[in-house]
Order: sequence, then structure tokens, then C-alpha cells
Amino acid sequence: MLNKDQFADNHFIRTTIEDDLQSGKHTAIQTRFPPEPNGYLHIGHAKSICLNFGLAYVFDGKCNLRFDDTNPEKENQEYVDSIKEDVQWLGFKWDGEPRYASDYFDQLFDYAVGLIKDGKAYVCELTPEEMREYRGTLTEAGKNSPYRDRTPEENLDLFMKMRDGAFPDGSKTLRLKIDMASGNINMRDPVIYRIRRAHHHNTGDKWCIYPMYDYTHAISDAIENITHSLCTLEFEAHRPLYDWVLDNIPIQSHPRQYEFSRLELLYSITSKRKLNQLVSENHVSSWDDPRMPTISGMRRRGYTPEGLRLFAKRVGISKSENIVDMSVLEGAIREELEHSAPRLMAVLNPLKVTLTNFEHGKTQSRTAAFHPNNDSFGEREVPISSTIYIEQDDFAEVPPKGWKRLTLGGEVRLRHGYVIKCDEVVKDENGQIIELKCSIDHDTLGKNPEGRKVKGVIHWVSAEHAVPIKARLYDRLFTVERPDAVRGDDGEYLPFTDFINPQSIQEITAFAEPVVRDLPAESHWQFERMGYFVTDRYDHKMGETPVFNRTVTLKDSWQK
Ligand code: ATP
Ligand code: MG
Repeated sequence: MLNKDQFADNHFIRTTIEDDLQSGKHTAIQTRFPPEPNGYLHIGHAKSICLNFGLAYVFDGKCNLRFDDTNPEKENQEYVDSIKEDVQWLGFKWDGEPRYASDYFDQLFDYAVGLIKDGKAYVCELTPEEMREYRGTLTEAGKNSPYRDRTPEENLDLFMKMRDGAFPDGSKTLRLKIDMASGNINMRDPVIYRIRRAHHHNTGDKWCIYPMYDYTHAISDAIENITHSLCTLEFEAHRPLYDWVLDNIPIQSHPRQYEFSRLELLYSITSKRKLNQLVSENHVSSWDDPRMPTISGMRRRGYTPEGLRLFAKRVGISKSENIVDMSVLEGAIREELEHSAPRLMAVLNPLKVTLTNFEHGKTQSRTAAFHPNNDSFGEREVPISSTIYIEQDDFAEVPPKGWKRLTLGGEVRLRHGYVIKCDEVVKDENGQIIELKCSIDHDTLGKNPEGRKVKGVIHWVSAEHAVPIKARLYDRLFTVERPDAVRGDDGEYLPFTDFINPQSIQEITAFAEPVVRDLPAESHWQFERMGYFVTDRYDHKMGETPVFNRTVTLKDSWQK
């Protein structure tokens, strides 16, 4: 459930909006989230979604979902569908129907015709190489295109022919006539239309010319009466163009653009293009592989919408660098699951323990709450039998200093059960420990043992009752903080795929309490002492071996 405290506060965009509402500049705000449907959304988009939808929510305004679909070769319906699903899953609702920049292609075309008639746009025939050459550099002014002074009539005729398919792809462009000497390269007669015979997921083969991003974006915002157009900092230098376009076409609305810094997550990648490469080169199984920083991958991993919103709030909104360690994300997820996930016991690396004095009728099972601080999760019986499994790590024959768990001759409490003492260690011919023989202190169920303190508590399952489960243990996908910024000896960037963590997934069979038998998919649990787990969205099927993904460990176990 959303509530107004869940969103970043005290940032400059929020105070600007407060001022605009207070001064009466706007009576209500309208924001938008404008993804290009050329891939699945990632954690950076989650930040932008929480900002745009969050502000609309906090100020009782509206937020549109608009697909910025001006590059038909790279875009498709699968991406459109996944984006809608992700936004909804994060807890947000867009205003009305989803919008598409392609819905405005006719209007965009008409405005371009108007600009041509006003002498503010011209058809140019420079090749891409020539265009680069004419553009100048950061320190040198550009040169006017030889086609710049065509008459409006000539331009109009050529532009209509461009639309009607009279010219080959890439042979002509429509450019704004602004200023080739501008200190801002974006203002040096930017291209606003190009010829591209590509099938569009929405408009099919209707168009062979497509408008460029900056032109499209500004006008789409204005058509939708956006009040605050929020984007990442790399668009700061595009703002003069955004304003120029809206100042030079006959449209009432003039949204204001504000820029904030992009989120970068260490040990991760936030670029759709690179994520696409991970999928297409089969480094991961799919866009929603639980190791992916995509919203759908994180969902499958067991991250929750509430946890991701908490993360977005914590990283905040500003104009300064926003490089965030993975531990901040994992911390937010963990913190949220601590309250929202019921708990049970599962043993991942089982060591057989025979309870030598187990006695039917005398040795009792206990009921235990699913959560120590939340009765609403209910309780279950934790069955015991003469053989149990404990975690291999919870026994040490030669214990280190301060060891609180089990050792030969030592005692430990079984969570929700008795205190046991290890009397004998059984080994195989290779000296591997294969079994422990332990005795129960029957006078310790729900009470402290007489005359001594037993500090350690370990989790366990009854071998007779335990359900085998498939557990997928995930680790970070990359072995270095910035996989896409490592240079080789020659100074060139190394492929980021060189830094994929070969141990990023491990699948094991584990043993869990009987309650796991009847769980639906996407059910979140804490396995006590072992981490948070979720039943896999796709592979977990009722009546079959349960499949759990480890969402995150209980403590930050990652050491640099
Ligand atoms: P990518 O490089 O991954 O393709 P993009 O910016 O091209 O990202 P869009 O689909 O154009 O992706 O982005 C939609 C919105 O999400 C934009 O407003 C964009 O600024 C925002 N956004 C994208 N990446 C991030 C990020 N890392 N942090 C914050 N906002 C982001
Ligand atoms: Mg983009």
C-alpha cells in the first residue's frame, strides 16, 4: 500500500512544486514517466518512477505513462508490456490510458510543417559525416549548411516528398534553423526528422520519416499538459532546445523541465543496451533472471515493491552524483522483509543428527509463531522426530574462540525445541563428519535448562517431516564495482562481460518445514538465520518440489 511518507522529501523538485502550488502557478500537477520501449526497466527507472508517480501521488496530481517510441528498429510490444507490468507492480497507476509519442506523429508532422512555413526549419542533404564536420566542436562554432537558405516553399515540397517516400533512407533530414554558432551544440540546427523505412510497433508502415527525441519529447509533454517534466542530468544541455521548440510552435502549454542525477548502482549495470547484451549473449537466462537489476528480475529475486520504494526514498533526488553501493539496496529490501515476511526453518547444507533419547510420547513438538512480532501471521506446529538435520556450519569439532553453536560435548538449543548435547561424532572412511549423536534434555522445552546457561540457538528440521526444496542461491552478477569502467593495459575499456561473477548462481537441494508444501508462487519467507527467500514466480508449482530463490542474506555478508 502506498502512503505519502514513502517518498523522497526535502528535494529541490518537491519544493519547486510546493511553491508552484502555493503561488497558484499551477492548481494541480501533472508529471509523466517516459520510457523508450527498447528494453526492460531497471533499478534506475525505478528511481524515476518513484519520483514521477510519487510526486503525483503526494500532491494529489496525475502521472502519465508515455512510451517514447521514436526508434522503431529497437522497440517492440514485449517491452511495452513489460514496462506496464513493472510500473503497476511497483504500486503505481497512470492517469487514463498509456500514451505513446507515436499517437502524436500527425501533430508533430503538422508542427514541423508550421516551422517550415515560418522559415524555422529546412530540409538538409548533408551526409552524416558532413553533418558532423559542419557541426563544429565545443570550442569552435559550426558552419551553416549549404541547404540552410532554401525557401519555405522548396522545403515544404521536399518535406512532403520525404514523407511520401520519394527519397532513400538517410538521404535527407529536416533541421531546425537555430544557430550554428551557439555555444550549446544542441542548438546548432538539430535534426528533427529523419528518413527510416522501419515497421513501427504502433503505426505499422504508415511512416517512413520519424521525429527525433528532443523535438518529440517537448511537444508530447506540452500536448499532455505536463506541468513538471523531470529527466536526468544529461538532458540539462537539451533544455534550451526543449524551450525553443515550445516557444516556436503554436501551443499553449509550456512544461518546465527539471533535471536530477541518474542512479548508478555499484556491482551492477544501469543501461538497457548493456542489459540487452547480457540477455542476447546468454550470460543470463532472460531479462527477468533474478540476478538482473531489472525490475522484473528483482521481482523474481524476491525484492518487494515496498522495499524498492524505500530504496528510492533513501537514495533521494539531487543534482549531485548518485552512485550507490549495492548494500544500500539490499539493506532496504532486508529491512522491509523483516516485518513483512513470515519465518520458518530450512536447512541448506544438512548434517544428520540422531537424537539418541528421542522417545515417542515423551518428546514433544511445539507450536511456534510465524513471526516474533506479528501474530497475524499465525502459527504452525514444528514437528520433531528421532532424526533431524542441522546446518553443517553449526557444528565444529574444533570450535574457534567464542563459539556458541554445537561442538562435541557441548550444548545448543534447537530453535522452537529442546536443548541438545552432542555425545558422539560419526565419520566416514575419509574422515568426513556424516552424523552426530546427540541427547535431548527433556526438561528444556520452553524453559531454560537447570543450573547452566546455553547460549547458542540453531535452526533445524525433522528429517521425517522435512520437505526437499530446490534453493537457488544468488550472488552479485559482477565481481567489480564498475564492470563497465575497467580499462585494460592499452587504456581501452574492457568488455563488462569479462567481470561476470561465475558464482552468481548456485542451485542446491535443501530441507524445509512441511508448511512449504502448499505455498503459492511469489510467497516471501525468512528462512531463520539463512536469509529471505521467495517461491519462484514461474518455476514453483504447487504439488511439485518447491523452488525458492534467495532474495538476500540476513546480514551484509559481502566483503570487498
Ligand atoms: P537506458 O540508458 O537504460 O536506456 P534511458 O534513460 O535511455 O536509460 P528511458 O527509457 O529513456 O531510458 O528512461 C525513461 C526515464 O527513466 C527517463 O526519464 C530517464 O531519465 C529515467 N532514467 C533512466 N535511467 C535512469 C537512472 N539510472 N536513474 C534515474 N533515472 C533514470
Ligand atoms: Mg533513452
